[in-house]
Amino acid sequence: MLDWIIIGAGIHGCTTAAHLAYADPSLTRDKRLLLIDSGPGPLSAWNTMTERVGMKYLRSPGVHHLHPRVRDLFSFAKRNHYYSSHFSGSSKKPSVSLFRHHCAKVIEEMDLTSCFEQAHAFNIDRCGAYWMVDTERGTLFTKRVVLATGTKEHCSLPSWLPAADQGGACHIHQKQEPEPVRPPATVIGGGMSGVQKALDLSRRFPGQVTLALRHPLRVWEYDAAPEWMGGKYRQVCRNTSTFSERRHAITRARRSGSITKNLYRQVQRQQGLGRLEVRQDPIRRVTSRQSHWLLHGSAATWEARAILCATGDQYHPAQNPLLFRLINSCQLPLAPCGYPALAPYSPVWARGLYVSGPLADLAIGPTARNIAGARTAAACIQQEAQHACT
Ligand SMILES: Cc1cc2nc3c(=O)[nH]c(=O)nc-3n(C[C@H](O)[C@H](O)[C@H](O)COP(=O)(O)OP(=O)(O)OC[C@H]3O[C@@H](n4cnc5c(N)ncnc54)[C@H](O)[C@@H]3O)c2cc1C
Repeated sequence: MLDWIIIGAGIHGCTTAAHLAYADPSLTRDKRLLLIDSGPGPLSAWNTMTERVGMKYLRSPGVHHLHPRVRDLFSFAKRNHYYSSHFSGSSKKPSVSLFRHHCAKVIEEMDLTSCFEQAHAFNIDRCGAYWMVDTERGTLFTKRVVLATGTKEHCSLPSWLPAADQGGACHIHQKQEPEPVRPPATVIGGGMSGVQKALDLSRRFPGQVTLALRHPLRVWEYDAAPEWMGGKYRQVCRNTSTFSERRHAITRARRSGSITKNLYRQVQRQQGLGRLEVRQDPIRRVTSRQSHWLLHGSAATWEARAILCATGDQYHPAQNPLLFRLINSCQLPLAPCGYPALAPYSPVWARGLYVSGPLADLAIGPTARNIAGARTAAACIQQEAQHACT
């Protein structure tokens, strides 16, 4: 019998695992905690995705990382001679290489790799006072489960892309490795992933890359205003009584599809040098030719051999087969928006069942899906579990 199974070894699953293991190292030493993921190792999806979009610096500040101690990344950077070029801006956003190195240190320190198993969970159910998790490698029994399954299973290509014959077209967040990009290429979407990918390609294929947008680029330093990283959501929860009001506040606070000032400047530069074309022209239709696509906007038609969609994820818990079955078999409470009905700062969906990431939206607020939210959820889970034991 395990103490914990964490499903999903992304940023959220690993942050929870790290918080639990630092609080009680015997969990990993005695293999009472198991981290499972359908990917090959802890953070494999994160590493693939950041590399795929050509990300250089994180969007979040250097105090957001896996380790429970807030300033751990800074002291790690100092000890390992990472100089100022590995930090961007006044909030010291770490370089991707520094962040990865720090993650590897946390994983090694807490021996999370030896507690990791590559397995896909396809069924979770109550089993008396415990939980049962079915994977293709067998059934596991545990006292507690953490669902940290992310949104990446839910990428969908825009409806205007013909379903048949999608060679050369992909979603930038899809699980399968996309085909190598052949220019001319069009990247669709003005958020962090789309813009970073367009910049990356414009350096590799100058003058042969288009960034297609539905609206002008929106510039915000973070994907939720900094006050949401403090106690503002607590205040919202005190002042609003219903889940719908909380959902409304979260939707309004999120700045999805926005980019940092630094990236905006890089776009202007690449545009000025004629390396990147930015078209604010919503695509109406796409037609395929023998070796390329024709993209028809409202104002123009242009050619592409590769179409990379960075158009977000269509995530909804009930669309995930694992969650759909779990919700129905355990009669789990849902808010009107279809997300777990959770008390503020309490990512506990049922006794012994915890959530992190998008599933914790209503508990954690606008930052729930990013690294700040992973830290908050992990700290809450660790405290709740400790409290339940005493
Ligand atoms: C390119 C990029 C850059 C980002 N940069 C930042 C940033 O700088 N700062 C910030 O705060 N946020 C950032 N984000 C947002 C967010 O922090 C990341 O998306 C983060 O990776 C989300 O982590 P996650 O663990 O929720 O999801 P994921 O990384 O998707 O991990 C979920 C894992 O669960 C596994 N899984 C799902 N279902 C099952 C199952 N049934 N059985 C087994 N395994 C399963 C998946 O294989 C996956 O590995 C960024 C996002 C992207 C895409």
